[in-house]
Amino acid sequence: MHKIEHIGIAVRDIVSANETYARLLGTPHYKTERVESEAVETSFFRIGESKIELLQATGPDSAIAKSIEKRGEGIHHIAFAVEDIEAEIKRLKGEGFTPISAAPKQGADGKLVFFFHPKSANGVLIELCQDIR
Ligand code: ZN
Repeated sequence: MHKIEHIGIAVRDIVSANETYARLLGTPHYKTERVESEAVETSFFRIGESKIELLQATGPDSAIAKSIEKRGEGIHHIAFAVEDIEAEIKRLKGEGFTPISAAPKQGADGKLVFFFHPKSANGVLIELCQDIR
């Protein structure tokens, strides 16, 4: 892991959240992307070498919909950039972290992504992401 790639924030209304975060960061979001496999609409803001990812559910079965139902809006996950996602998954499994899925999959922003369960990281959902080259 070499940096925080982004922080994911679950929002109910991405249009109004985009305005709020543009006012907060002093710069508008630079892209939006719908990820059908995760049933989310996302938008991204740059802040230094990291990003903020806003996520709105596009359907009731989305993990974001369930998260907002349980905990309300707020920080949903922290994503770490990795060079070799398979090696990092293996390392973290060896350290006792609980994976959420069997294999990495394509996420937003041209990344391969993989998640570890919040219960194994003090309540924080952990995302690993590797650029797809
Ligand atoms: Zn993310």
